[in-house]
Amino acid sequence: MKTLPENYQPSTDCLKDKVIVVTGAGDGIGRVAALTYAQYGATVVLLGRTIAKLEYVYDEIEALGNHNTAIYPINFEGAVDKDYEDMAIKLEQEYGRIDGLLINAAILGPKTPISNYSVDSWQQVMQINLNSPFMMLKALAPLLEKSGNGSVITTSSSVALQGRAFWGAYAVSKSALQNLTEILAAEWDGTIPVRINSINPGGTRTSMRAAAYPAENPASVPAPEDHMPLYVYLMADDSENVSGEYFNARQ
Ligand code: NAP
Repeated sequence: MKTLPENYQPSTDCLKDKVIVVTGAGDGIGRVAALTYAQYGATVVLLGRTIAKLEYVYDEIEALGNHNTAIYPINFEGAVDKDYEDMAIKLEQEYGRIDGLLINAAILGPKTPISNYSVDSWQQVMQINLNSPFMMLKALAPLLEKSGNGSVITTSSSVALQGRAFWGAYAVSKSALQNLTEILAAEWDGTIPVRINSINPGGTRTSMRAAAYPAENPASVPAPEDHMPLYVYLMADDSENVSGEYFNARQ
């Protein structure tokens, strides 16, 4: 388990000329990561299901003076492998490669005992949180390889490492995604110039957190902005030789 190197200070243009795809870019941690990557000079591709939210983030990035952003609407619940292959073709036509992929979109699903967990909810959570990252990673890996120095971040959780009562499919999906991250890091090691690491944001002030802990005072948990040095570090060349690691955003 790792944390951001002490005293890490990204250079202001550390993501210049990088093309970074962010899933779930319309809200929460994904929105702030997209804005932050754009601030550091990246061309950001905003993926998500609610176009109005993506357009809002697009406008926020434009206002920063970065005019290279793109919106790619997709609902991970219904998307099939062909949709990810089409995505790869479109990204290749537009950019020729991608340098970064932040797999961030997820849903919490019901917080309820397994005895009460509906099969439909289970499959929905698995589809969005696990199957969709699998299909996307498979389709986009060749484009990441073309970068010559690609970086993938998957989004983990404390419940990925230790199951917890009532967290159901969300915990299982995060545990499996962590395992998929480790498998790919091992498969790519020394053969494909793409690194892959996971970040556990820990409790973070977003709508997902509010749904999971409705009684909590949101001011008592960090904002997504607090985690951004780690999100930048893992996309920037500063982390070039780091792969297969699980990072805790909260130190
Ligand atoms: P959030 O505010 O709920 O944002 C989730 C994002 O994923 C939204 O942009 C949402 O789009 C998108 N999304 C959900 N379902 C989708 C679908 N079917 N197709 C496309 N996009 C979809 O959550 P967050 O707190 O920022 O969470 C970000 C990541 O951090 C997740 O992987 C989460 O598991 C992880 N995490 C969060 C915390 C925390 O305390 N916040 C702790 C540990 C791990 P819409 O806005 O359009 O619904």
